[in-house]
Amino acid sequence: MLKGSCLCGEVTFEVNAPADGASVCHCGQCRKQSGHVWSSAHAAETAIHIAGPVHWFEASPAAKRGFCARCGSFLFWKAHDEDTMSFALGALDGETGLKLEKHIFTADKGDYYEIDDEVPQS
Ligand SMILES: [Zn+2]
Ligand SMILES: [Zn+2]
Repeated sequence: MLKGSCLCGEVTFEVNAPADGASVCHCGQCRKQSGHVWSSAHAAETAIHIAGPVHWFEASPAAKRGFCARCGSFLFWKAHDEDTMSFALGALDGETGLKLEKHIFTADKGDYYEIDDEVPQS
């Protein structure tokens, strides 16, 4: 099981299912919300148990973004037409057993950094 929390600790979550698709998102929305890029994996929405006050923001009609209203940690991303939910890898505590599989939305990346690892890009 994976466990995570926001920076202030008011929001905690557990993932009671295998996590998949560990990725780094370079899209403009993730960069704005996180301050840089956003790393996440996903699991069945029903397997992610959240405690605490998550606020949801819809940056587009297709998905909502969950964050802690107290400290601002960007924790969750959920597409309305999918039954999975993404959670922030940076919010996890302890060993994750996960490994990044891909960079996504690299066409939208900022010009102030290079992607220079061996992780596949799309
Ligand atoms: Zn918080
Ligand atoms: Zn993104």
